[in-house]
Amino acid sequence: MTRLTSWVESANSADTDFPLNNLPYGVFSTNRLEARCGVAIGDMVLDMAALEEAGIVTIGDDPVFDVPYWNDVMEMGSDTWASLRARLIELLITDAPEQAKVAPHLVPLSEAELHLPIAVSEYTDFYAGMQHAKNMGAILRGSPDLPANWLHIPVGYNGRASSVVVSGTEINRPNGQRKAPDAEMPSFGPSTRLDIELEMGAIVGTGTPMGHPITVDEADALIFGYVLLNDWSARDIQGWEYQPLGPFQGKAFGTTISPWIVTAAALDPFRTPTPPREKQLLPYLDSTVDGLYDIELTVSMQPEGAVAATTITKTNYNRMYYSAAEQLCHHAVGGCGMNPGDLLGSGTISGPVAGEYGSLMEISWAGRDPFTLTTGETRTFIEDGDTLTLSGHAQGDGFRIGFGDCAGKIVPAVEFP
Ligand code: CA
Repeated sequence: MTRLTSWVESANSADTDFPLNNLPYGVFSTNRLEARCGVAIGDMVLDMAALEEAGIVTIGDDPVFDVPYWNDVMEMGSDTWASLRARLIELLITDAPEQAKVAPHLVPLSEAELHLPIAVSEYTDFYAGMQHAKNMGAILRGSPDLPANWLHIPVGYNGRASSVVVSGTEINRPNGQRKAPDAEMPSFGPSTRLDIELEMGAIVGTGTPMGHPITVDEADALIFGYVLLNDWSARDIQGWEYQPLGPFQGKAFGTTISPWIVTAAALDPFRTPTPPREKQLLPYLDSTVDGLYDIELTVSMQPEGAVAATTITKTNYNRMYYSAAEQLCHHAVGGCGMNPGDLLGSGTISGPVAGEYGSLMEISWAGRDPFTLTTGETRTFIEDGDTLTLSGHAQGDGFRIGFGDCAGKIVPAVEFP
């Protein structure tokens, strides 16, 4: 994949997240502009509502970019997605004939406030990282053996769309009920084992009606794009509540996503296959597409007042066992309807060795092994004032397809009762 160059000079730097090859979709506002659709290019954001009003980009009979979500564009389908991307490249490429008409509609990213890029319809979270599943088994049940269904089913649960917030949103430490193994009675109060989960989020662009199964290949074509996703987790609350129905309040207090939808089209050159199947999947999960992507991921932690963040994890999305398309196929196969704006969390991404683990539960082995930050402080779980930041990009030849940060700071629990 060759690097495309743009007349927006900052887009041509090798380390920008947003070269012309990327063109991720977000929602922004400024002091003078209401929240609307925008496209990141270098250190600028292209005001799509203004381009539409000026007649430079039109993809429908009615305006679709003057709203604070991309759902309307997603609903228009993959032919529209492709023609929009082609039009944006035509407008922003070096020596574009329409440069002078487009340039007034660029806003510096430094002046933009970023919002959720979609109206999240529903949120489903999966458990598709094998190393994470093994680590959690070893920690929680004393054995790394996978659950009996794990090699056959993309295990997941239905989460809460209301928990999803954009990067930069502060998260209150949750209150909840928990019980120490040796305690007689549960207690209520702020979580003492607050954690992250490093995940990718897949965004469903085109829905499927209830009662309408789809193949993995069809599912792959319905995915509009991807974001970084931090599935904040309160391990003490989760540990007490999760049997027999799975996570509930331990996962419902915050889910942070990065502000830009990186499209499947931009990521296409970076596709990688899922790893060899340890057990053959049932035929309905067969596919011909490479459903994962080579996306380098890092997590950093920065205490309040610290001058620098400490990288605590480096791994890659290609470590996953199941792809988002396999998850979406399995989600719909029994008859569950899917909607534009549905968000599918991949499950925690942990590589095979320490240093690649995607949660503090694994990094500190449930608190047994404290780790040290560059400030000299130690941690097992998250303290109030800590900021956790997920970053990710696919590395091309002289450019990278970046996601922008997925960051959140933990602030003290609400006093209750
Ligand atoms: Ca999760």
